[in-house]
Amino acid sequence: MQKLYQNTINGTVIFEGIGLHSGKISKVKLIPNEVDKGIVFKRTDINSDNNIIANYKNVSSTKLCTVLENSSGTKVSTVEHLLAAFYIVGVDNVIVEIDNEEVPIMDGSSKDFVSILEKVGLRKLDKKRKFLKIVEKIDLEDDGKQISIEPSDNFEVNFQLNYSNNIIGKQKNSVNFSEDNLDDIISSRTFCLFKDIEMIKKNGLAKGGSLSNAIVVDNDKVVNEDGLRNDKEFVNHKILDLAGDFLLSGYRILGKVSCYQGGHNLSNTFLKKLLKSKSAFVEKELDNIVLTKKTDLRQSVKIAVNA
Ligand SMILES: [Zn+2]
Repeated sequence: MQKLYQNTINGTVIFEGIGLHSGKISKVKLIPNEVDKGIVFKRTDINSDNNIIANYKNVSSTKLCTVLENSSGTKVSTVEHLLAAFYIVGVDNVIVEIDNEEVPIMDGSSKDFVSILEKVGLRKLDKKRKFLKIVEKIDLEDDGKQISIEPSDNFEVNFQLNYSNNIIGKQKNSVNFSEDNLDDIISSRTFCLFKDIEMIKKNGLAKGGSLSNAIVVDNDKVVNEDGLRNDKEFVNHKILDLAGDFLLSGYRILGKVSCYQGGHNLSNTFLKKLLKSKSAFVEKELDNIVLTKKTDLRQSVKIAVNA
């Protein structure tokens, strides 16, 4: 069920960890924020112009992670898994103080972030959320990758991968973020191919990467000793990334996303196109009636027929 009202967190919480790409340890402090303030990163190691609003317009790079940058050039990177946790737990307004350039990777998934947020809890604020309800299909194709969104009463994501190895292969999954159990999505880790590691490191990335925060695939084998956490961990992680990246729209979206081989770059390009396509969506607050589950509707129809 969607939350109708905006939420913040119910207290301040601190955690720290290594950055996947920078290899630097950073300390993060999550602080409650007021209505309509959204998600704001604040670099505490920088003295001025250190606020970076979590918005798709501030995405400055999508090379292996999502980087946000303000107009003064202050950046924060690898924001997507924390944003996905905000999406899933239901946080709308929060200040994310960070004393370095990159959000900690933790175990490569959103599991730790979700449990931190669930532990501190939510505080309901006195104003309704604005949803972005899709009313017209929009699609985008880029270099063999595809993404589209069409009307739905929930946020649904249908994702398909296409890798030449057998272990990832054509893995696909569909998730309804309001109705499905999201445990497998939350705990699915980031992944890379063993053959790409040298190139990634040459580009100065993945300095903090290890088998404790990423799945490494070598041909048709998972290198990590304990294997996978669930059967569809690869595509489930891509769905997690997409949820985090889509929260950068500034809204909870009511629409069904279909994505083929996408990633941070495609999601960002698509959000720009979607939010320019004014006839494709309406901005609205919701009431309970709109949120009746499909199954409940079917049930009520059945009862009506039986009666
Ligand atoms: Zn990711």
